[in-house]
Amino acid sequence: MSQTVIKTSETELHKMKEYYKSSLKPNPPSGAIFAAKVEDCSITAYRSGKVLFQGKAHNDEASKWGKGIPSKEKGKQTKAIPNSVTKNHIGSDEAGSGDFFGPMTAAAAYVEEKNISLLKELGVKDSKLMKDETILEVAKHIQQVDIPYSILVLRNNKYNALQRKGWTQGKMKVMLHYHAIQNVLDKINQSELHGIVVDQFAEASVFKRHLASEKRNMPEKMHFITKAESYSIAVAAASILSRAKFVQEMDRLSKEVGFSLQKGASKLVDEQAAKIILSKGRDTLTSISKVHFANTTKAWDLIKKRNQ
Ligand code: MG
Repeated sequence: MSQTVIKTSETELHKMKEYYKSSLKPNPPSGAIFAAKVEDCSITAYRSGKVLFQGKAHNDEASKWGKGIPSKEKGKQTKAIPNSVTKNHIGSDEAGSGDFFGPMTAAAAYVEEKNISLLKELGVKDSKLMKDETILEVAKHIQQVDIPYSILVLRNNKYNALQRKGWTQGKMKVMLHYHAIQNVLDKINQSELHGIVVDQFAEASVFKRHLASEKRNMPEKMHFITKAESYSIAVAAASILSRAKFVQEMDRLSKEVGFSLQKGASKLVDEQAAKIILSKGRDTLTSISKVHFANTTKAWDLIKKRNQ
């Protein structure tokens, strides 16, 4: 299994526990201070100061906290970073795929070489290192400068309908990225474009297969790299735009239901889902959540238990 191990201080361990508090697992293994599960990554923090990140997103998750100790079992090496990240290029990223409540969003942005330093000055960087308030602020700045971009929202009713039709979440992501990229391609002079960088969530072959199933072709000059937002300012900008849109949508939905909806897919989310079923009915839940997540079943279990 691919994993990253980091060594950290006690203070940092407490910070981490606080950070993952909505995703903590109930029974951490012995010797562990806590264990948590977020999308595509399990985290186990030991009293010794070692923290283990396992799963597809191990690298991303660990990079929030500092340097990894090279592990023997380290997964595939990061691919060579394409030259286009220093030239005119498009980047795309999505948000909301691991959150029970709220839509899935995606964004693509075109950054010309001459604008790279401007965006850096605006504070565009890896959105995973930023708080939601900062993300909203920086997103506003990106939208004010002359950067062609596209932001798409896949609302929950549509998401759930596609899911029932047999679409995987992976396919939905592919199509969102694709349309966001196409929208940006339509706005720019493509002869000056050096490449398109996608924050990799699937192999290129999978991406291509999903596109083919919708009779679409892979755009030219596509590059898939993991942790792309730390190499490409266009991906970083796209990650900020998509995350900001997701946060705004969550605020809107929270107002609709009358309380602050929790992000992620934790136990608290199960409780909120049960509350919504009881007070507003299952259709309301369907209209604001990704119903195929396990949280739905857990919410019904909570309701049954209460009725016993
Ligand atoms: Mg991503």
